[in-house]
Amino acid sequence: MSDNCIFCKILNNTIPSKKIYEDKDVIAFNDINPKMPVHFLIVPKQHIKMLSNCDINNQEHIRLLGKMTVLAPVLAHKQGCNKGFKIIIHNDKGGGQEVFHLHMHVMGSPL
Ligand code: AMP
Ligand code: ZN
Repeated sequence: MSDNCIFCKILNNTIPSKKIYEDKDVIAFNDINPKMPVHFLIVPKQHIKMLSNCDINNQEHIRLLGKMTVLAPVLAHKQGCNKGFKIIIHNDKGGGQEVFHLHMHVMGSPL
């Protein structure tokens, strides 16, 4: 939990979101500014700033990233992406990251 983090505020329900999935490790909610008809974010509950702050020797990081990745097609399919989807992780300012709490974009179209 980080005080000025918008995704931590979504996680503790201080800010509303259109939640589509939650378990003990992760939450997924619709992106407020969708770039495709289906566009949601998978966010670990642990406040990790960005992908490059994950450690190859940290089994919890590996587990969380694995879960986020394997969850993406399950949720994409449930959201109607029957023909495919893409996942994107922006890393740091140079990678287009705006919210500094690790998240995976999942985007697709029902077509
Ligand atoms: P980025 O950090 O560039 O990977 O992207 C952050 C994403 O978070 C953007 O696509 C925003 O539209 C989205 N976003 C920012 N605030 C909210 C919010 N309150 N609820 C849902 N999505 C948000
Ligand atoms: Zn956070």
